[in-house]
Amino acid sequence: MDIVLLGPPGAGKGTQAARLQANRGMVQLSTGDMLRQAVAAGTPVGLQAKAVMEAGELVSDAIVSALIGERLDDAIDSGAIFDGFPRTQAQAEALDLLLSERDRHVAYVIELAVDEDALVQRICGRFTCAVCSAPYHDEFKLPKVDGVCDVCGSTEFKRRPDDNETTVRTRMAEYRAKTAPILPYYEQRGLVRRVDGMASVDEVAAQIDAILDGPA
Ligand SMILES: [Zn+2]
Repeated sequence: MDIVLLGPPGAGKGTQAARLQANRGMVQLSTGDMLRQAVAAGTPVGLQAKAVMEAGELVSDAIVSALIGERLDDAIDSGAIFDGFPRTQAQAEALDLLLSERDRHVAYVIELAVDEDALVQRICGRFTCAVCSAPYHDEFKLPKVDGVCDVCGSTEFKRRPDDNETTVRTRMAEYRAKTAPILPYYEQRGLVRRVDGMASVDEVAAQIDAILDGPA
C-alpha cells in the first residue's frame, strides 16, 4: 500500500513514518534524502541531479520523478510513504503515472492536521540535555531541579537554532503554500484522510493504523 504523508515540520511526520517502517516494513521516500543518497551513490539520476545542483539550478520534476522510479524499482513491495512529494498537481500526476506503470496507486493521502499556535508553542519551548539528550520543555517538562538534568545531572542544555517562532511560522507558511494546491486533486478522488496531529504519538499512530487497516 502506497501512501502520501502530509504535515508541517514538527507535526510528527518523521516519527510516524519511522513507526510505519518498523511495524509494516513500509519505506519512507523523502525526496530530500533520496536526492542526497542518489548523488552520493552516483546513480545515473544522481549524476544528473548533481550536475543541475552544481550549476545552481533547481532539480526538475523530471529528475525527481526519475529518482522515485529508481527507488520504486528497488522492490518496495510492502508500500512506500511519500514525504515531501508531490508538491504540485503536475508532480501528483507524475506520481500516479510512475505508480500505475508498476501496477500500484496512491491508496491514501494522510494529513497530520495541527493547530499552528499550539505547534509553535510545542516546538519553540523544547530543549535537550547537552550530555544525554534527554528532552525537556519550557512549559510542559522542566527538569525537577532547575538547571539540572533529571537523567544525568548535567547542567548544560541546548536548543536547536531553528526552534524559534519566526522560523517555525515561516516553514508552516511554506508548507501551506506548497501543499494546498495538491489537496483538491486527491480530495476529488476521496483519498484524503486527516488525523489529529496534536494528539499523542500513540494516538496518532492508532488513527493511522485504523485508516490503513480499514475498509478501502
Ligand atoms: Zn542529561
